[in-house]
Parts: sequence; C-alpha cells; structure tokens
Amino acid sequence: MKIDNIALIIAMRSEAAPLIEAMDLKKQDGAFPGKTPFEGYDGSYEGKQVSVIVSGRSRVHGIDNVATQPAALMTFLAIDRMNPDLIINAGTAGGMAEHGCRIGDVYLSEGPFCYHDRRIPLPRFREYGIGSYPSVDTSELAASLGFKRGRISTGDSLDMTDRDLEMIRENGAVIKEMEAAAVAWVCEMMEVPMFAVKAITDLIDRSMSTEEQFVANLHLAVSNLQEAIKRIIGFDGL
Ligand code: SAH
Repeated sequence: MKIDNIALIIAMRSEAAPLIEAMDLKKQDGAFPGKTPFEGYDGSYEGKQVSVIVSGRSRVHGIDNVATQPAALMTFLAIDRMNPDLIINAGTAGGMAEHGCRIGDVYLSEGPFCYHDRRIPLPRFREYGIGSYPSVDTSELAASLGFKRGRISTGDSLDMTDRDLEMIRENGAVIKEMEAAAVAWVCEMMEVPMFAVKAITDLIDRSMSTEEQFVANLHLAVSNLQEAIKRIIGFDGL
C-alpha cells in the first residue's frame, strides 16, 4: 500500500506541540465544525501529506479533551475531512514493568486494541465491551527502526482498579492508555488502516502513583515520541 496522506490523532497539546513545530505544520483554520474544540495542523514532511489533529481544550474545564469520547469524534472528523490513507494515534501511555517496559520507551501497537473498563457480563456483550479492533502490522517498522511492540488496552481512567489490572492481563496487554481503542474502532468502521505509537510515561505495576510518574516523565516521553514519529513518517517501507 502506498501511503501519501497521514493523519495523526493526538490527545494532549503538550504531546503534539513539539511535533507540530519540528515538522513545521500550519494551523488550518476552519478544519473542523465551528463548535468542536479540535485543532488541525497540516503540511508536508518527507514527501508525505501530514495532518496533526489535537483534541483541544474543554470549554468547561480548560484542560485537554483526553480519553475516548473526543478521540472517537476527532478520528471520525479527521477521516471525513482529510481522507487520510493511514491514521496514527500518537501519545503517552503507562507500561507494564513485568513485560520489560521502561520509562521513555516508544512502543508500536501489536495485535488488536481492546478495553479494560467496559464490563458487560452478558452473552456476546462481554466481547463487545472488551472489543478487538485491528492494528496495521507494525513488525517490519519496529524491526527496521528499533522500536518495541506491545498490545494496547484502553480505558477512561488514568488510575486503575484491581479489576482493570486483571482485565489488562487477561487482554494480554502491555500498554495502558486512554484513546487507542476508540480511534481504532472508528478506523475499523471507516476502513482506514491504523496503528498507534505510544511513549511510556509511567509503569503501572510499580508502587509510585501514576500521576506522579506521569508528570515527572512527560517531557522525556514526549521528546522520544516526537523523534519516533519523524522517523516513522520518513521510513521508506511505510
Ligand atoms: N495529568 C495530565 C493528565 C493527562 S491524562 C496532565 O497534566 O495533563 C493522561 C493522558 O496520558 C491520556 O491521554 C492517556 O492516553 C495517557 N496516559 C499516560 N499514562 C497513562 C496511564 N498509566 N493510564 C492511562 N492513560 C495514560
């Protein structure tokens, strides 16, 4: 498949800003319907058309529109408006130390995306809740560029209950974050290939709180994420 037009879906402004600057993308006024908070930036990088879509700020709370609702909506609008031939969900995530994750590592998605906090204990609804939405096969990309790969599980909370951790383990996931499965659900529905790139800010199976780790490591993770995305977009085999 020839990829000419890539849309990156990014939840937080602090995750997107270094990338927008490094690729010299320009804000597209009017990219999205006036009342939506989403922001679009575009330009060309390494001969490819690149758009970055950022969730924008909550009008009520004044912080980034993280988590699954905005992620699904902005992905749908990005596909509708920009007609990309590939979607990449980029961001930060928690990782499992027991699977070898380290702070600052960059992971590419491996296998289907799922949820760890949508529990519907009824026949077939159970599987619906957990979900299973495809990722592009990233094995060649990871091997060529030296990134790790892992299965990603999504939920709407930054913290984690014991049951969430159990479900993450049952899902065979190594990475925990708040957007990828929602993005992947829309991409499956709209038949647009998709994968995720996540830089690790915190280790979810360590005693220090996720929030403390997140704040301490955000800068390193975002810097590694930005370097990784530039190399991925510039990769010939993409
Ligand atoms: N405290 C942050 C809030 C960010 S919410 C702030 O100051 O702005 C967390 C964001 O980081 C989400 O977009 C999510 O996808 C990602 N994330 C990083 N580590 C995570 C973890 N352990 N669990 C869930 N999401 C995580």
